Amino acid sequence: MRLALILLLSLSMLPATAATATPPPPDWLDGLEALYDAGLRVDGLDDRRFQPEAWWDIALPLASRKRGFTVETIGSSAEGRPLRHVAWGEGDTRVLLWSQMHGDESTASMALADLLRFLGEHPDDPLVRRLRSGTTLHFMPIVNPDGAARFQRRNAQGVDVNRDARALATPEGRALHGLRERVRPAFGFNLHDQHVGYRAGDSDRGTAIALLAPAFNEAREVDASRARAIEVAVAIRAALEPRIAGHIAKWDDTFNPRAFGDLTAKAGVSTILIESGGIEGDVQKQRLRKLNFLALAAALDAIATGAHAGLPHAAYEELPENGETWPDLLVTGGTLVLPGRPQARVDLLLRFDQPLLGRGGRIADVGDLGGAKARRVIDASGLYIIPFAPPGGDATEERGGFGPGMSAHFHLARDAGGRDVAWTLDCDIDAALPMPAAATKDSE
Ligand SMILES: [Zn+2]
Repeated sequence: MRLALILLLSLSMLPATAATATPPPPDWLDGLEALYDAGLRVDGLDDRRFQPEAWWDIALPLASRKRGFTVETIGSSAEGRPLRHVAWGEGDTRVLLWSQMHGDESTASMALADLLRFLGEHPDDPLVRRLRSGTTLHFMPIVNPDGAARFQRRNAQGVDVNRDARALATPEGRALHGLRERVRPAFGFNLHDQHVGYRAGDSDRGTAIALLAPAFNEAREVDASRARAIEVAVAIRAALEPRIAGHIAKWDDTFNPRAFGDLTAKAGVSTILIESGGIEGDVQKQRLRKLNFLALAAALDAIATGAHAGLPHAAYEELPENGETWPDLLVTGGTLVLPGRPQARVDLLLRFDQPLLGRGGRIADVGDLGGAKARRVIDASGLYIIPFAPPGGDATEERGGFGPGMSAHFHLARDAGGRDVAWTLDCDIDAALPMPAAATKDSE
């Protein structure tokens, strides 16, 4: 009896010690998510490769003066696209949010359009009232519109704007820096996307969202300003935990004096980096877009009300760091058939230019790849790998074989002659074509 009691006690203590100190999400969050699903998500941004002009065509009517917004042009990009600042709110706590300084990182820009709509169309929502009276929000959406127009990381001068915080050699970097100097925000949100292959810590789970309260010096000290950023990161984790538990990570906090987040932190701004990674199947990052919206709503409310104060730092510090970056596709144990060469039992590792869509596949490795891991795995035991020349492209044979760097065109066939084809990869994954066997192992 006593033993049972001790056993019971120790069992009941287990979850308490194993569980993180993550606080519960705000009680209004489920209601906001329902409102979002019912009609906050702005139409026209279903493809994450939108043009910057299309984004502004959608956002400018949402950010009208009669809805409490001011919009000003604060510069122009290297190619002459307007750089704009949108402001809203009447509160004392100034918050600066900037997105897409890497042109191919558009998730938060989509969420910011939804946020503008929420703020403008729901003036009497209690959350909107709290944000209006507690904060003034300053947005610089799509910091790098030239990069966005090409869906590329760098600006039209070939410069990574997020390594230009010190040199300020780019017009985009200067505009963001000038805005920060003028606004003198208490809080900053640095909004990015990261590679979808990142794992959360040493787990097999993909990182959906990674957070960082950047360091302001090389010693990575935590002063009052950084402590507030950590608290806001905890507010974000609290909001997202029930939705993507196990898929939240944190970035390494090595100080980088060329990066905007770090230099903004150094300027005394409580800065929070949000990186949108990947959720398998969410190929246009629309789920991540909503999670960004909810994360920002929770973070801004914590700032507006001061509710971030005292949130347990452990809920941030205990987050796993971004771990390995897994490649996109592993084909294991197939038999490679090349004309005039001996057959070979090999594994194949592939990377895609567009990993979520499975487009632009290239061979990364061939051979016995032992413990290689990948976001998706096909067990090709008993199948033949039969490369083919793409129509109009170079013949694989003429290029001297089959190997790393080559674009991926092959059949998986049940016979060495390639007549009974089980699956085909022609650079792009054909979503209508089921992968063979029960082999696809999408990590959750
Ligand atoms: Zn980025």
